[in-house]
Amino acid sequence: MSEWFVEEDNKEIRFSCKIDETLFEGKSDYQDVKVVNTLAYGKMLILDGCVMLTETDEFVYHELISHVPLCYHKNPKNVLVIGGGDGGTVREVLKHKEVEKVILCEIDKMVVDVSKKFFPEVAGELDNKRAEVFIGDGIDYIAKHENAFDIILVDSTDPVGPGEGLFTKDFYKSVSRALKPGGIVALQSESPWFKKAFLERIQNNVGGAFQHKKAYIGPVTSYPRGLWSWTMASHDATLFDAPNLQRFRAVSKGLKYLTEGMLTTVFDIPPFFKEKIKS
Ligand code: SAM
Repeated sequence: MSEWFVEEDNKEIRFSCKIDETLFEGKSDYQDVKVVNTLAYGKMLILDGCVMLTETDEFVYHELISHVPLCYHKNPKNVLVIGGGDGGTVREVLKHKEVEKVILCEIDKMVVDVSKKFFPEVAGELDNKRAEVFIGDGIDYIAKHENAFDIILVDSTDPVGPGEGLFTKDFYKSVSRALKPGGIVALQSESPWFKKAFLERIQNNVGGAFQHKKAYIGPVTSYPRGLWSWTMASHDATLFDAPNLQRFRAVSKGLKYLTEGMLTTVFDIPPFFKEKIKS
């Protein structure tokens, strides 16, 4: 059997790739969950018709959302990941031996279970003794924690459905309260090719909760438009001064995308994107 998986980005753009097998199809309380085998990208996790990850290029996204903030923070010990039920971000965070605990707050248990079954190379560290998986809404979870985390990574779906509330100013203010002094938040902040108003709203909401923020980009070819962004924010401007290269070198051997030079150049975003988010 070979047919095409199609993700409708908008009314004028579709992303599609040939598949030869559907490995799982389910409907949780929150979304449709599907795993297919594609000819070009290998196994692919799809939520509500949107590509979440593929076994071929997931490392780009997971290395960028985790090692950049982890190498800028002065001494990261406690990390919270909101979303990220596939386990890829937790896997990268745990490469940092100084991290004592990483908590994953994922709303949909089906995503965790399916990822463990079909993407063991991504979800395998969710059973690490330094990791703890909490199934629940990240909005509720963060509201119950103050001054608790050194780093919070918001590895969410898009701002629709269960993910919508993870892009509001109120949510980012809760994140700010949940961070310890000198804490850093990093979040997936959508594609630089998306509409200005959409991107600006996310940046304004982050800026409404944090004095200092910087966006950075990277290529995720299986995502809409093939280019993605993340935004790192903090109350402490000095955090952006220089990455801890020694900490990066301790984890860099196994990395497949991020380099030492990129730790600083990732923030040198192209003018078209800077213009869109200049808030
Ligand atoms: N990490 C993947 C990647 O490579 O980009 C994709 C992101 S991960 C699959 C997004 C997760 O966010 C989903 O599993 C979804 O269930 C979860 N999520 C969405 N809204 C949430 C919420 N309010 N609280 C906790 N998790 C949420």
